[in-house]
This record gives sequence, structure tokens and C-alpha cells, in this order.
Amino acid sequence: MSQRYDYEAIIIGAGISGLVCGCYLAKAGLKTLIVEKNAGPGGYCTSFKRGGFQFDACVHSLGSLRTGGNVRTILQELDIEERLRITRHDPSDIIIAPDFTVHYWNDIDKTVSDFQNIFPAESENIRKFFDYIQGCEGIALMSLKSVTFQMMLDRYFNDYRLKAVLSLPVLGNAGLPPSKISSVTAVLIYKEFMLDGGYCPDGSVQALADILAARFREFGGDIFFSCAAKRIKIEEGKVLGVETAKNDIFSSKYLISSIDATSTYMSLIGETASGQKIMSLLNKMEPSLSAFILYLGTDGKLENVRKDSVIWSMPHYDIDNIYNLTVQGKVDELDWFLSRLSSNHSLFMFVNVPFVNEAYWQDNKRRLIDIYINKMERIFPDLSRHIIYKDAATPMTLNKWTSNHKGASYGWAKTPSQFAVTGFTQNTAIENLYLTGHWTTLYQGVGGVAYLGRDTSNKILKKETAQ
Ligand SMILES: Cc1cc2nc3c(=O)[nH]c(=O)nc-3n(C[C@H](O)[C@H](O)[C@H](O)COP(=O)(O)OP(=O)(O)OC[C@H]3O[C@@H](n4cnc5c(N)ncnc54)[C@H](O)[C@@H]3O)c2cc1C
Repeated sequence: MSQRYDYEAIIIGAGISGLVCGCYLAKAGLKTLIVEKNAGPGGYCTSFKRGGFQFDACVHSLGSLRTGGNVRTILQELDIEERLRITRHDPSDIIIAPDFTVHYWNDIDKTVSDFQNIFPAESENIRKFFDYIQGCEGIALMSLKSVTFQMMLDRYFNDYRLKAVLSLPVLGNAGLPPSKISSVTAVLIYKEFMLDGGYCPDGSVQALADILAARFREFGGDIFFSCAAKRIKIEEGKVLGVETAKNDIFSSKYLISSIDATSTYMSLIGETASGQKIMSLLNKMEPSLSAFILYLGTDGKLENVRKDSVIWSMPHYDIDNIYNLTVQGKVDELDWFLSRLSSNHSLFMFVNVPFVNEAYWQDNKRRLIDIYINKMERIFPDLSRHIIYKDAATPMTLNKWTSNHKGASYGWAKTPSQFAVTGFTQNTAIENLYLTGHWTTLYQGVGGVAYLGRDTSNKILKKETAQ
């Protein structure tokens, strides 16, 4: 490698994807820098302390940690498996529907029989569905790109309540109803998160980001925190380096952006260098929904609620209606939610919401906190009497924290037409510019972006060795 550059690779963003990518590049011997606008690593996978309670900001559990799962493999390859202490909660998820409760156990057979007991007429189809999901990978998985999850559910099942209860985790974990989501994403949510999920780093999810950041440094990488990238320097269609908000300029051979694609192309690269094609695509693409998140500190006396499992409240079976109310911004009327009461008595709840605008959240945040506490009493009786601390994050908070476009939770909405869009995958039309993370129109969630971080580094290292 020539000495012309300050760094051989610069990564923008120390979320999980940027950190994983950085670890592999630095491990391979590339002089690598990560610039992160926040004071610490993690992006959405971060935690904080307030009012004496520890809260996970967004990510509340991890998947893909089975032997051979993406995250497990990455931890092993980076030799940090022993550092991350993880507890797998069992059941990982509990869905409380109007006339039944279903559990996602660590043992898939137990989960299948839970479903079969509730829907005996669909018994055989349930087994076939979960078997198919578990074995679905490679070409079979990619062939589902244009198939909506609704089409898939209709192939297997007749019972509308069964289809709805299988759709709720997809709505919660991707922000789309079955009629709109690509089955690639829906199958991955099931395979990598619902059937191989419920893993929580001991302490908080921040541990994962901290361990990756430390490992990156051990491999010789530099991380500059509180250091926002302001401009990606490009000349004659080729990456030159990055300029920071403090006006420092660092040259590099490769530039990897793990931040949202709108900022990357519109603000950091600019319209001229990005090209008309990308600009017009950007105007058409839809981000995923954002989230309204409650952080509640409780007195530890909430009774009859299972701790550490994710509990879903499903008040009815009309998932399209939930989605329609959401996109119409009728946040008061939404009546489902996802929650997790931790052993340390902190209670996390979230619901998908649209970005709306800053004024709406300023005017309504406090009111919505109390409205949602009230809704949560369906699952957590007398909740309001047990709260010691309460606060919330709105789409504005998420946007300010990570600069994710419109506070989107999962990058681009994973509709069939927005899966693997040219210019928005890892390779770009600009020489030596790569994208990684949940704005790549490929994968999402910690497991998905960790996979992408590793895969992006592979693409760069392959190019390096070919030269
Ligand atoms: C409410 C909520 C709940 C979720 N729950 C889960 C869950 O339980 N499990 C799960 O697996 N996934 C969950 N997800 C999804 C998951 O958090 C994301 O898909 C994943 O963490 C995205 O990682 P990333 O590295 O692609 O991007 P990010 O986490 O967005 O990281 C990008 C980083 O880039 C930095 N940055 C932005 N602009 C600049 C700039 N100009 N210069 C320098 N740095 C910059 C940001 O500060 C940030 O640190 C959840 C998301 C939300 C919002």
C-alpha cells in the first residue's frame, strides 16, 4: 500500500456495522480510522443511565448468536467471544393476543407446539412454515425478494388470527405490515431474531459496541469520537478522503459510510458528485418508520409479569389497520406495543411511529408518555403507581442521536421494490466508496448490519489483494 494516504480506510460512523467493518479491516493490517459524531460507540445499539436506572436506548435484544450464526461467528473470528457475557432469556418473546398467549421459546419445537396447541387445525402447516424458515438461505432466500410476507402466509395458512400473530413481530421489527414487506426481510426476522433471539449482553447492549471498539483499537485502528464527517472528498469519480466538522482533512484510499444514505449522498458527497440518477432515486425512496420509546424506572414491585422476556401487547388482529393508523400519524390511537421489564427494574416500551415534525413531538411527548403508560396497564397492572422515573425518545431524539434520516429505525423500508437497489448496496458508482449498515437496502438489525460490516470488509480486502 502506498504511503500517499493518511489512512488506507476511513469509516464514517461507529454503529455496529462500522465497528465490525473496522475490526476486520484493521485485523487485516489496513491502517483504519473510524470517525463518529457522538462521544461514544454504538449508534442505535447503545445504553444510558438516568434516574438511577440503566436503559438500552433502542436495541433491547440480540439475535444470530447460535453456533454458526452471524454474530457468533464474528465474535469468534475477532476473538472476543469470551469478552461478551450474554444471557439468553427463555421465552425470548411472549405475544399476548385477545384470546390466547403465544411464546417463542429457545427450543423451536416447544414454540411450534405452542402454536399448534392454539391452532390445532393448522398444525401441519405450522410445522412446515417454521421448518421452511429455518432452512431458508442462499438462492432460496433471495428468490423471495419480490414475494410479500402476506403472499407467503397465504400459501401456508387459513386462520386470520394465526397470520396476524405471525405478522406482529415483523411489523414491530421492521415497521411494515405483511402486505408491504419483502419476505427476505420477514424470513430473516424470524430465522435470525425470533427463533434465534432473546440474547441480552449482561449489563446492557452497550457492552457489544464497547468490546468491538476496544478490539478495533487493539488491531491498531484509530477512533475519533465527537468527530462528525462533514464532507467526503471525491475527485474524478474517486474517493480522496474525508473532511470533519472541525475542518480536519484525512486522506484515504477507501471510504466506507455506515451512516444514512441521504446524508452520505446529499450532504457529504453533494448532488454533482453523487450524480442525477442517485439524486432522483433518493427522492423516491421511503425510509422505514421511526419509534416512540418509553424508558420507565419502576419500584421493583410489578407483580405477575415475566421479567426479561419481550412482551408484545396485541389488542386485535387487524395489522393493516395498525399500520394505516401509524402512517396517518394517529399516534394516540395505536394500541399495540412491545415492552421488556428488565431484572434491574427498568421498563422499555416502543411502538413504530412516523417522523411527523419537530413541533408535533415537542407539543405531544409528555402527553403521549402518560397515554402509553395507561395503555401499558393492560399488561402491567397498576403500572402508574410503580413508576419512579419516566422519559421518552421520539423520532426527533433518534434523528439527533444518530442522524438517521427521519429517525428511521431500520434504514430504508424493506419493501420488495426497495430491496438491493443499485447505488444503495455496498458497492457504489464512486471508486473506492462503499456503504454498509442498515441503509444499504439489504439487511437490518444488529445481526444484519454486523453481517454487512464483515461482508463490506471482505469486498475491500478482495479488491486490495487483486491489485
Ligand atoms: C427503537 C428501536 C429498537 C430496535 N431494536 C432492535 C433490537 O432489539 N435488536 C436488533 O438487532 N435491532 C434493533 N433495532 C435496529 C438496529 O438498532 C439497527 O438496525 C442497527 O443498530 C443499525 O446499525 P448501523 O451500524 O447500521 O447504524 P447506526 O446504529 O445508525 O450507526 C450509525 C452511526 O453513525 C454516526 N454518524 C451519523 N452521522 C455521522 C457523521 N456525519 N459523522 C460521523 N458519524 C456519524 C451515528 O452517530 C451512529 O453512531 C432497533 C432500532 C430501533 C430504532
